[in-house]
Amino acid sequence: VRLNSNGVTAFVSITRGCDNMCTFCVVPFTRGRERSRDPHSIVNEVNELWEKGFKEVTLLGQNVDSYLWYGGGLKKDFGAASAIQQATAVNFANLLELVAEAQPKMRIRFSTSNPQDMTLDVIETMAMFKNICNYIHLPVQSGSDRILKAMNRLHTREEYFDLINNIRNILPDCAISQDMITGFPTETEEDHQDTLSLMEYVKYDFGFMFAYSERPGTMAARKLVDDIPEDVKKRRLSEIIDLQLKHSYLRTKQHLGKVEEVLIEGTSKKSELQWRGRNSQNTVVVFPKENYSIGEFVMVRIENCTSATLLGKAVGYSENN
Ligand code: SF4
Repeated sequence: VRLNSNGVTAFVSITRGCDNMCTFCVVPFTRGRERSRDPHSIVNEVNELWEKGFKEVTLLGQNVDSYLWYGGGLKKDFGAASAIQQATAVNFANLLELVAEAQPKMRIRFSTSNPQDMTLDVIETMAMFKNICNYIHLPVQSGSDRILKAMNRLHTREEYFDLINNIRNILPDCAISQDMITGFPTETEEDHQDTLSLMEYVKYDFGFMFAYSERPGTMAARKLVDDIPEDVKKRRLSEIIDLQLKHSYLRTKQHLGKVEEVLIEGTSKKSELQWRGRNSQNTVVVFPKENYSIGEFVMVRIENCTSATLLGKAVGYSENN
């Protein structure tokens, strides 16, 4: 468990390692094969955090949707488990439900979701529980099928769109964020355009964007030549960042005029007189302190925004308090 110094939000690990083999990633070599933690110990940890005054927990794993508990052991050995172990296994949707039910007033988040492993039942479970936040970090890395294949991401652009459509249909208010790598070996201008058009389709709430650089020990470092010139990587990265900024602003503007529940996490970085918290969608909200305190759930009317922050005024406590 990792506690934030704010005393309000904490992280609980649910899996270790990863069985995917994305060619740019070092995790499969450094963290080993995937194992899941006993759901009872996860729920116990969440209960203890609540008792200590924490109000939000993020379930953490390299690939949370791949979570599978069948009594211990590696994920890859599940096929060899007994019939009873297989029939009583706990998957990620089941785990989310267990945690959400154990602490109905606690906010539940999770990270990271891998598109190829995220299933419909996870999205449906999110819709069933008010305390599971409407936010999915859903890295895609590229919008080009050819590059996705070279990265060994085991889904296509079309399959990613299907997943996005399902999220939009089941959770209309869900925020989605991305990780993007630009300038991956052999990336053409057409591949880059595919990334921009994918972003145009999804209109992410925010994202983490990088120019490709070789990581020692990865499959890409061993097998692929880092052949995209630095100036091309830089230009493509700035096009991606500019587009993301435009979309982020479009997304934050959608909150204007709404009254949203915010969990207060601390003082605003810019003003001693303002609180800083986040709404369910994980967007930062800043508003005057008045008599509210850290760790409280407050309803805030959103009056203004930048591309990254919502500004508003508290109108009262949330019923969650
Ligand atoms: S990028 Fe994520 S899913 Fe892919 S190998 Fe690394 S940890 Fe696993």
